[in-house]
Amino acid sequence: MQKLALIGLGASGLFALKELAGADIEVHVFDVGPTYEKRYACPIDQGKLTVCPPKACSYCAPGQSAGSWNDFKVILSASPVIGGRLYDLVGETELQKRLDMVRATILQHAPCEIPVVKPNSEDLDWIKKKATMAGMVYHYQELLHCGSDNAPAINTSILNEIKAKGSNIVFHFDKKVVSVARRNEKFAVRSDRYRKPEEEVEDTFDMCIVSVGRGGAAWLTQQEFYKALDINPGQVDIGIRVETSAFFTEEVDKRFYEPKLYYRSRHSGDVVRNFCSNPKGFVTPENHRDYVLVNGHSKMYEKSENNNFAVLVSKTFTRPFKNPQMYSQTIAKIANMLAGGGPLVQRLGDLKAGRRTKSLTNNLIKPTLEAECGDISLAYPHRILESIIEYLDALDKICPGVAGESTLLYAPECKSYPDSISVNKNMETNVPNLFIIGDSSSWTRGVGQAATSGILAGEGVRQKLKVGMPGASKLVPVS
Ligand SMILES: Cc1cc2nc3c(=O)[nH]c(=O)nc-3n(C[C@H](O)[C@H](O)[C@H](O)COP(=O)(O)OP(=O)(O)OC[C@H]3O[C@@H](n4cnc5c(N)ncnc54)[C@H](O)[C@@H]3O)c2cc1C
Repeated sequence: MQKLALIGLGASGLFALKELAGADIEVHVFDVGPTYEKRYACPIDQGKLTVCPPKACSYCAPGQSAGSWNDFKVILSASPVIGGRLYDLVGETELQKRLDMVRATILQHAPCEIPVVKPNSEDLDWIKKKATMAGMVYHYQELLHCGSDNAPAINTSILNEIKAKGSNIVFHFDKKVVSVARRNEKFAVRSDRYRKPEEEVEDTFDMCIVSVGRGGAAWLTQQEFYKALDINPGQVDIGIRVETSAFFTEEVDKRFYEPKLYYRSRHSGDVVRNFCSNPKGFVTPENHRDYVLVNGHSKMYEKSENNNFAVLVSKTFTRPFKNPQMYSQTIAKIANMLAGGGPLVQRLGDLKAGRRTKSLTNNLIKPTLEAECGDISLAYPHRILESIIEYLDALDKICPGVAGESTLLYAPECKSYPDSISVNKNMETNVPNLFIIGDSSSWTRGVGQAATSGILAGEGVRQKLKVGMPGASKLVPVS
């Protein structure tokens, strides 16, 4: 029997595995994480802490499949702008078909009823008018919000179904893949125990699916095959996490949960967007070991009085600069440095007035994350902050109060995406039998499309097994 290595069991890996359960190929799954039952014990859920620590916790770190465990909001609409770029790769119909499969799987495995958020025509008329008056563009989306508290049950149940069907699957949890290298037509995969290394073993595989997420992006660039891939530099999003009263956003939360609103900055022309809204949720640190970002999540049952969401400015760079990831990480590290190692928080009123926030005592909005009060303008480029302020002022016309003085801004919230890798419609690269899926391919930016890319790769492997593994089919040029 032929052998396939699946490296990473996050959102994309899990759905690729679901496609491959019972297929005529031996699948070896490697993941640095422990088994799902033991994963991601949030210290707050365990009662060990009451608020997020500014650093140290890895519950929300990327590379730990955070989005499938943390908040677990799934965008279900095939959109050319939201959740990734698979629309450009496979087109609306094919993308929607796979997103519907993701939706059905999650709902089938959910421990309780999870409503699909779907705006009606009255909601759409309402937002279209409001957004136009505010100078913003609304993008339609349907979504599921599973909540961090439902995530373990859903993921474990999907995996159990796979195990029941998949006698062809061998799991290697707590195993880090150290390297992948081509050996003639095959792939040599070296792995070691993640927590207590020094037992490195090598095995050879006919096919390889790499699904290491954004957290594995740097690792990917160090692999032997990387230079053979057809790549373009990725994009970065630099922004802040906004925390405000849930009363100010109540109307849009009720109608849309998260309305996708895009805005073009008047002074720079940069595109600014909101991302990852968490009505009645909590701001969290996102631990990258050598720097700490901010993020947010919300739960199905436990609620705060606030809403938090990211406002991001997207940047791509042209020659001679080739390292956008380094750019965003440097900004993040400066913000951390000013905060003594963790995130910074500043009142919007203080940022606009050009002064440091010194205390949040008596501030209208009570923070849900303990962060250091400071001055974000000492770390962020003026161009980025101006665009963010413009965005919030525009949003205030839809959600009055959002751009008030007491609104809290947390930094750094930077997203750096891996280089964009050319793939065919089944996520196979120009290296035959090597598939790169999910956020590590840079084609996806969220759980919904990451899972979709896994389904596409699984289907691609099955097709190859049927016809006897020809080389990669026609590549789609990266835009
Ligand atoms: C805090 C946070 C919250 C988020 N919330 C949401 C949300 O609500 N909704 C949403 O759509 N998106 C969310 N996202 C984004 C979402 O997590 C990603 O888009 C999605 O998980 C990408 O899936 P993936 O399979 O590409 O990577 P991941 O899900 O990150 O999975 C990668 C897997 O690879 C493993 N791995 C990495 N390197 C190796 C190696 N060398 N060897 C073995 N295993 C390895 C990791 O352990 C991990 O399990 C969030 C992200 C963060 C950080």
